[in-house]
Amino acid sequence: MKKKMIAGNWKMNGDVATALDIIAGITDAANQSQHDVVIAPPFVYLSLAAEKILSSKIQLGAQNLADQEVGAYTGEISAKMLADVGCQYVLVGHSERRQLYGETDLLVAQKTILALENGLVPILCVGETLEERESNQWKDVITTQLLSVVDHCGIDAFKNIIVAYEPVWAIGTGKSASADIANEVHEFIYYTLSCKSDNIRPSLKVLYGGSVTAENSAQYMSQEYIDGVLVGGASLKPSVFSEIIRSVE
Ligand code: PEP
Repeated sequence: MKKKMIAGNWKMNGDVATALDIIAGITDAANQSQHDVVIAPPFVYLSLAAEKILSSKIQLGAQNLADQEVGAYTGEISAKMLADVGCQYVLVGHSERRQLYGETDLLVAQKTILALENGLVPILCVGETLEERESNQWKDVITTQLLSVVDHCGIDAFKNIIVAYEPVWAIGTGKSASADIANEVHEFIYYTLSCKSDNIRPSLKVLYGGSVTAENSAQYMSQEYIDGVLVGGASLKPSVFSEIIRSVE
């Protein structure tokens, strides 16, 4: 059976005390899970988190990385640095990065390459806006976002890339996509990547993200094409995130 993934994106929230509290509060659930449990704290708490999760099954991810390898890029954090402090994963192309910081498909592909070259597993976020969904353009949007990475990294790179479908209209809005809608899009993502290579399917993981809660997580997890969840707001509440972890069979 393919392992599922429950990943928590803390975004720009919390402080040292919160970080310690979340880690302590989810450790039991993570240790009892058969699946992969990942947290993505802000950069400045990564080293602390790495130390605190050492004796647990929790894994570490970052929320972003630089599009350059090394050098005079004030304020940036490289893929190598993330690997150095113990990250195994990194979010790439989160819709907040695309929308608020102007990250293009090309930039996202460049970051994906750097993550892979440094041994990190990119969690590549794709998803349509409300307007794009309402005008039935979601397939085109997601195809463009995926194929940009395929073109720059090659389809085989998807053996080491996790895809996260995060409809922009469902992120932080409390308006989650129905399990049926999410499953339909996930099936489309599987189809799009499988058209490029039949080897991809067995190792591919596609997570759903967008207002996941302890109440709706089990519905997503039971869908054929949903291999896990990427959780924002609810990952800041240790008891709720633990329930989400436990909702995966
Ligand atoms: C996210 O930011 O990746 C996310 C899914 O946020 P939320 O769960 O708060 O909608």
